[in-house]
Amino acid sequence: MLPLSAQNNWFQPSLLQQPAIAKALQSIDDRSTGIIDEWIRLVEIPAPSGKEQARARYIRAEMEKLGLTDIREDKMLNVSGVRKGTGGGPSVVFAAHTDTVFPDTTPIKVRREGNILTAPGIGDDTSNLMATLEMFRALNRGGVKTKGDLIFLASSQEEVGLPGAKFWLENSGYKPDMFVAVDLGANQVFYGAFRITLFKFFYTSPGAHTLESRGAPSPSKAVAKAISALYELPLPPAAPGLDTFKLPVLNVGMLGGGTVVNAIPREAWFTVDLRSLDSTTQDTLATAVVSTAKQVAEREGVGFRSETGMAIDYSKARPQAERRNLPVVQTALATSNYFRKAGTPEISPADVGSTDANIAIAMGIPAVAVGTVLEHLPHRLEEFAEADSIVPGIKSLLALAVSLTTH
Ligand SMILES: [Zn+2]
Repeated sequence: MLPLSAQNNWFQPSLLQQPAIAKALQSIDDRSTGIIDEWIRLVEIPAPSGKEQARARYIRAEMEKLGLTDIREDKMLNVSGVRKGTGGGPSVVFAAHTDTVFPDTTPIKVRREGNILTAPGIGDDTSNLMATLEMFRALNRGGVKTKGDLIFLASSQEEVGLPGAKFWLENSGYKPDMFVAVDLGANQVFYGAFRITLFKFFYTSPGAHTLESRGAPSPSKAVAKAISALYELPLPPAAPGLDTFKLPVLNVGMLGGGTVVNAIPREAWFTVDLRSLDSTTQDTLATAVVSTAKQVAEREGVGFRSETGMAIDYSKARPQAERRNLPVVQTALATSNYFRKAGTPEISPADVGSTDANIAIAMGIPAVAVGTVLEHLPHRLEEFAEADSIVPGIKSLLALAVSLTTH
């Protein structure tokens, strides 16, 4: 008997020999130059989170040319369309986000040197947006029929806590059987979801001149004590198999307060970014973080208040072993490995993730995150990608889409 993970891989390489699919794959090779040119044009359309209008409009026009049905744009600037199946198969969302982390003042002209394309957003996530669009075109060119529906979601605001995908999954009315976030490098398959909680803690006092400050309660002193107490909190050992990531982790990323040198501040504050792999650990640590921050305020005799960022409820998420064995994960692993660049290490799936797939995972929808190009230094101005990696990346995505929807 095959191990469960092998049974759950729905990709058979013989699929690629079927005439319609072979034609679709060949059409990707034939258009490789045009794909790279269009990818560059797409990168050069500015799309900071919340200002995705121009890119959304571009994708929407392409969805219309593709003949997708039920094309919609919602108030979050998500754009979606459906490639109807013949019936009887699972429906699968392929989601790539339109937004980038760069403000609209950032120069985004693409520099091309041989096979290397350099520009902010070249990889994350414009490469995958281009690849997803081209995958739908290739399916049409080959005349490929799938049983289940394929839904193309160009999501918004992925980079600011996933509210775009959250809104779409909760309000579109679609109940997809599977969800694929196309938002990684071609050498990554993620099936997990980081638990992320963001806090901002404020300490307050009436304030006083420096000359009257000796022994008086001080928000800045409270901030110092609270930050050092938080870094003393015992964390469980770092989870193995996460490459350079060490989780759970807490990070004080911002701090501030006061308005003049010669007075006790009326207010001082700092932020905490807390991340774990599972809800139990996250909830335990979040409780400890808040009570530690609060106790310091009491001990220091200052006022206290806190803010918490949008929280995602993971109570419906499936257990780790079950998620790892899902057909959507095992099939994605098989297609990503089949099409991976020669000489690169075999891809193993990681129980991590901070993509639109997190929302699907939280809702209990089978989900995975994959990628289509070899990309480097995402979220940095020096971001670059390997141009020729997009052709096998699109083929891999197409093999995944067909395998999942014709099972
Ligand atoms: Zn991304």
